[in-house]
Amino acid sequence: MKKERLREALEKLLSMFESGNLPPAVARTMIRRQAGDERPSDRWSLGNRLLMYLAGTEDARGFKQWEEAGRHVKKGAKAFYILAPCTKKKTVREREIDSDTGEEREVERERTVITGFRCVPVFRYEDTEGEPLPEADYAPPEPPPLFDVARKFVGDVRYRPFVGRYYGYFDPARGEIVLSTHDAHTFFHELAHAVHHQVKAGGLKPGQHADQEIVAEVVAAALCELYGFQGYIWHGWQYVKAYAGQDDRKALKAVMGVLADVEKVLDVILEAATPEERGCAA
Ligand SMILES: [Zn+2]
Repeated sequence: MKKERLREALEKLLSMFESGNLPPAVARTMIRRQAGDERPSDRWSLGNRLLMYLAGTEDARGFKQWEEAGRHVKKGAKAFYILAPCTKKKTVREREIDSDTGEEREVERERTVITGFRCVPVFRYEDTEGEPLPEADYAPPEPPPLFDVARKFVGDVRYRPFVGRYYGYFDPARGEIVLSTHDAHTFFHELAHAVHHQVKAGGLKPGQHADQEIVAEVVAAALCELYGFQGYIWHGWQYVKAYAGQDDRKALKAVMGVLADVEKVLDVILEAATPEERGCAA
C-alpha cells in the first residue's frame, strides 16, 4: 500500500468532517447469542445484569445451576446477590368493555402480582471449576481486513455475543481484543487502541480518555474510508463529537490535536500489513 493512498484517505476524511458532508450511515450490527448457548443471566433484569458486571463477570449462576452445567463452585468462593421478584397468583377484579354489547362490566381475573423481592445468591463463572462450558463460534465468516495485523499486536482477537455494554474493547493487560459485532469499523477502532498502546510512550492510560478515543476513532474512520466501509464514518464523527462536547468546531480541533498520533498509528498498522492486505486497498 502506498502511503499516498493513506494520506488521501485521511485528507478526504478530514474534509468530510469539516464540511459535515458524510456518506450515508449504515446501521451498526451486534452479535446475538446462538440458540443452545444461552445463559441464565440472559433473562435477568438489567439491574441484575449490572450487579453481575460490577461483580466482574459476564456469567453468574446459582450453586445448583453451576452443578447442572457440570461445574462446581470453588471452596471459599463468595456469592453475590441478585434480586428476584416474589410473586403470587391473585384474583383481581377488573373493569372492561364487553366487545359485543359495548357495555362496561366487572370481571374476575387471575393475575401474577409481585409481592416483594428476595436476595438470590449467585456465583461468578471465575469462581467455578469443572467441565468447560460449550462455546459457540461467533467469528465472522470472513475476517475483516488487517485481521492478521492485529495478531501481531495482541495475543488474541475474540468474538462473542453482545451483552449490552460495548461493541468491543481492547484489554492491554490480557493483550486481547474482544468484539461483539462483525462490523469492521469496531475492529479497526480496537486495533487502533492496541497499536496506539504500543507506540505511545508509557502505553495508554487505563479507561476511556477523550484523546485516546479520538485517536482510535479517527484511525478507524480512515481505515473505513481506505477499505470501502464508508457507512461507518458518520458514526465515527458522532463518536468524536460525543467526546468533544457535541460541537463541530471543537470536535475538528480535537481531531487536529491528535493528528500526529493518528498518522503514527496508521503508519505502524500499514507497515505491519502483508502486501496482500495492503493490496486490498490499493
Ligand atoms: Zn475505544
